Amino acid sequence: MARVGFIGLGNMGGGMAANLAKNGHDVRAFDLSEDALARAKKAGCLPVASAAEAAEGAEAVVTMLPAGTHVEQVYQDAVFGIADTAAVLIDCSTIDVETAKRVAEAASAKGLTAVDAPVSGGIAAAAAGTLTFMVGGSQAGFERAEPFLSNMGKAVIHAGASGAGQAAKVCNNMLLGATMIATCEAFLLADKLGLDPQKFFDIASVSSGQSWSMTSYAPLPGVGPETPADHDYQGGFAAALMLKDLRLAMEAATQVGADTPMGARAAELYQRFAEAGNAGIDFSGIIRMLGDGQNPTPG
Ligand code: NAD
Repeated sequence: MARVGFIGLGNMGGGMAANLAKNGHDVRAFDLSEDALARAKKAGCLPVASAAEAAEGAEAVVTMLPAGTHVEQVYQDAVFGIADTAAVLIDCSTIDVETAKRVAEAASAKGLTAVDAPVSGGIAAAAAGTLTFMVGGSQAGFERAEPFLSNMGKAVIHAGASGAGQAAKVCNNMLLGATMIATCEAFLLADKLGLDPQKFFDIASVSSGQSWSMTSYAPLPGVGPETPADHDYQGGFAAALMLKDLRLAMEAATQVGADTPMGARAAELYQRFAEAGNAGIDFSGIIRMLGDGQNPTPG
């Protein structure tokens, strides 16, 4: 088993670090929050006083931070010049593609190997060790990161070169945002046309309108499997995080000159939804805004 430095023990990182410890690794954990450090200690990690202390002597340094600026700063201040050149640097945060590439290049210039490895799956999947990792980096980097990622997830996929993990993540979540809005619209129209939502779910789930947003995450209470809709849209994947990912997707699209009208519209609608006081509400709750505050009523 290995020594692992883990930096960023928030909603996601806390569960991920706990799973590394559960798999027998010696996890040196750091966060700016004392509460997060205390939780990590309870979960079997060794809290340390700085990010540099977490990185020092580690075989793998995992970061799970809010955004690209945090990752870049932590790498500059506490990882470069401190982590062993034999270590693999694994950034699991969702950040912009350009920063992910820049960080990997800077690491490489210092003789270090870095991969971007953002995740699909929320807080529950992080705690359960069932995340999906999409990895960008060299084959050698992927092979070194894979055993650690397998301890925290159910699927680890090599997406391509540096930045490819983040590219896969923003494209996936742009698709998710757009299909969720389309699914909400379909339920609202079906209701106005007099269709029972459960009947519509039964039909669309086995027809060509099927998608994860429909079948696994239906945005209506009492329809389909249990989802945040059954808990007044609490828990799940916050609208603020969906908006963050859609903005990253739009930024990436602008950089490469891709035309993404559905993604752009989804970003506008989630911005409106979040700004109306719903940033902490599950992203499927946008059905209320699209339906003028009304859910279709299961008949
Ligand atoms: P979070 O805000 O709960 O956790 C981030 C943690 O980083 C906090 O505990 C914060 O104190 C810590 N931190 C910030 N700057 C730091 C620094 N310089 N040094 C040490 N610690 C620092 O966020 P989260 O929900 O855990 O998300 C983390 C990342 O995962 C984000 O990039 C997010 O977009 C992505 N993500 C989140 C989810 C989700 O459902 N929450 C799902 C997929 C991906």
